[in-house]
Amino acid sequence: MSELELFHFSENSTVKKTTVTPWKVLSVEDDLTYQASLIYSLQDLVVYERPVEILTANSVSEAADIISRNSDISVILLDVVMEEDDAGLRLASTIREVLGNSAVRIILVTGQPGMAPRHEVMAKYDIDEYWNKSDLARDTLHTVVSSHIRTWRYLSELIQAKQGLQMVVDAARSISSKQNLVSFTETVLNEIERIIGIKQGGIVCFAYQGKQFSSNARVLAASGAYSGSTHKALSELNLDEYYPGFVCAAEKRGHLFGTDSSILYFDTPNIDQKHYIVLVHSRERLTDGHINLLQVFSENISSGFTAVALVSRLTNLAYKDQVLKSYNRNWLLRELSAMTKEEKLESRLMIVVVNDFTGMMVTFGEHYCEDLLTALLLNIHGVYPKDLIARTGDCTFAILFNKKSILTEEKLSHMIDQRLTLNNTIHRLRLTVARIDLSLLTEVKAEQILQLSESTANMAHIKGQRIIDYEPEIMRSITASHHLLMDLHAAIDNHEFFIVLQPKVNMRSGKATGFEALLRWQKPDGQVIPPDRFIPLAETAGLISHLDIEAAKQTIEAAILLQKAGFDLPISFNASCSNLHHKDYVRTVLDMIGRSGLDGHLLDIEVTESQAMLSYEQINPTLKQFSDLGLGVSIDDFGTGYSSLAHVAYLEATTLKIDKSFIDHLGENDAGNHVVEMILHLGEQFGFAVVAEGVETELQRQYLLNRGCYVAQGYLFARPMSVSKVIDWLNTQQTT
Ligand code: C2E
Ligand code: CA
Ligand code: CA
Repeated sequence: MSELELFHFSENSTVKKTTVTPWKVLSVEDDLTYQASLIYSLQDLVVYERPVEILTANSVSEAADIISRNSDISVILLDVVMEEDDAGLRLASTIREVLGNSAVRIILVTGQPGMAPRHEVMAKYDIDEYWNKSDLARDTLHTVVSSHIRTWRYLSELIQAKQGLQMVVDAARSISSKQNLVSFTETVLNEIERIIGIKQGGIVCFAYQGKQFSSNARVLAASGAYSGSTHKALSELNLDEYYPGFVCAAEKRGHLFGTDSSILYFDTPNIDQKHYIVLVHSRERLTDGHINLLQVFSENISSGFTAVALVSRLTNLAYKDQVLKSYNRNWLLRELSAMTKEEKLESRLMIVVVNDFTGMMVTFGEHYCEDLLTALLLNIHGVYPKDLIARTGDCTFAILFNKKSILTEEKLSHMIDQRLTLNNTIHRLRLTVARIDLSLLTEVKAEQILQLSESTANMAHIKGQRIIDYEPEIMRSITASHHLLMDLHAAIDNHEFFIVLQPKVNMRSGKATGFEALLRWQKPDGQVIPPDRFIPLAETAGLISHLDIEAAKQTIEAAILLQKAGFDLPISFNASCSNLHHKDYVRTVLDMIGRSGLDGHLLDIEVTESQAMLSYEQINPTLKQFSDLGLGVSIDDFGTGYSSLAHVAYLEATTLKIDKSFIDHLGENDAGNHVVEMILHLGEQFGFAVVAEGVETELQRQYLLNRGCYVAQGYLFARPMSVSKVIDWLNTQQTT
């Protein structure tokens, strides 16, 4: 690729006409008659097929002005004596020392023979020759001027080459800092333009994949005559006449240099099989010097393409989620850190969490869940087409969007309940969404923004909300949760948990039919933390199995105490769904029951409906292990989980607990009544006992009794009590 090649475009191609630039010669002369004859003598001079253009000045100052504006003057015919005796010499010194023009050839002429300047003066100002006007006949003038034009050309090319080489070095340096392909190619084009100084014409760089040159290639960068064509297909550019050249460069995998046009070829075969072609087209003929420079430059940048390809591959690895092919957490952090304050004022971040993902993973396996997430991502993209989505965790996505693309509440509430079809099965995916207005966090670092956003999403889970907006208040509440979490760790070790029992009552007789064990946390300072605060926290922190094992252990002890006191009544304990996937939890609790010697019928395990149903296939066998030991199995918060009836029928359960929310509005609206009636009907149909939860009023009690629901749990009958109080309560109940 390194040997210099001149390329000739095919014969029938319409070669663009190159305009020929004349050589510029300046005559500095105060004798206007002599100057006129000079112009006349030189008008037909042609050097290297280029004519000569004569510029004229009649004073030193006028000459200095012309020279400073025309850096391409090749020869100056300078009259020594003008305004003053040494005016010509002073001009020579200005040209060399002030204007720094070392290339222009200076020929001194004088009308006064014998006035020749001293030799050292000529050497000092690099004055090339000294002539008497009378000796400069037309032919001599032609010979002298043309030989100096040749010298000038040679010299200026040398100088340019030197500058060019410096530029190549500089260019390589500025290019090496460009890490993405577009800015890299743009810089390449700028540098080429700088090095060879294209005034007319243009440069275009395009890329294609695959073995052969294709006109479908995309333009990566363009300048001059081609500017504005970035991103277009090559075929739109009307460059057909160069196609044979492109094909040839691509076949040879090498550059082709020509005087009007050069084609540079680069590729990155070991990294991404991409090919790059740069067409450098100049209306002005490129000199050998330019072509040389272009060649040196090309050698320099070919490694640049490789570096950019590598960087982009590494970027892909570092900033893309390799499974879902979406952006990842690192990417989001980078984006957030790069955002200006103004951009933050306009942007929002949304965290989307897939609820109960652990359960899904256990039930369906990793691959299936990844497919589900891919389908979900596609759906989200449908809603936020222009916005940027990153996967920030196993089941968490972040969407960075402009305030303009905000969804209506209606659309959002539609989005958080996803129905995805995979393998002909419809899956319901419930999402929790946290919205963060970044204008509230302009001074906050990227890492913290993300943490805060995720904590906000967590907060939604703790509060039982599906959509939550970040508010500065949340920051305080997150800090409080954080402290609580610290305490929670210590509390487990310090046995700060105890259970209270709430009776389940037969509403006809008023007698207890059983109890539910509810966990309480009392801190050393006496403060009692409600389960609604610490249970979700323990779930997210992975501590829930410790708590549920503790609750089950104390429930067994309580049941033994009740039995000893003469009451054979079952006590239920709650189990978070994640625990039922947890082999340790299941084994530990089954072991505890076995070792206690307690009759299984005196225990009952409660699982919430939504959790039990979501991972039905996995949970059901576990529930069976408990029922095989004689335990009752209660489905808690029944009615809120939208169970499919097909599954309810086969559920390893003995009892359905109607969720309090339906009891609250009993008698008030048909919808609530309808759910209660439907559950009662289900119970009857499939042989489940039914317990109504949260009965607070006589009205509710009557309503339930009228519809044949006899067992209830609620403040109307009793609040949760300590085990010793329960025994007292049972004793007084017996005597009444
Ligand atoms: P849950 O399992 O649905 O428990 C019933 C909750 O309703 C209890 O609240 C109980 O005190 C309350 N309740 C009962 N009757 C009434 C009533 O008439 N009116 C009102 N307003 N409330 C009534 P608690 O004890 O605060 O427990 C809240 C939740 O914490 C429980 O809901 C359960 O999900 C969770 N929880 C409690 N203990 C445990 C445990 O040991 N393990 C697990 N995993 N979760 C537990
Ligand atoms: Ca319960
Ligand atoms: Ca409940």
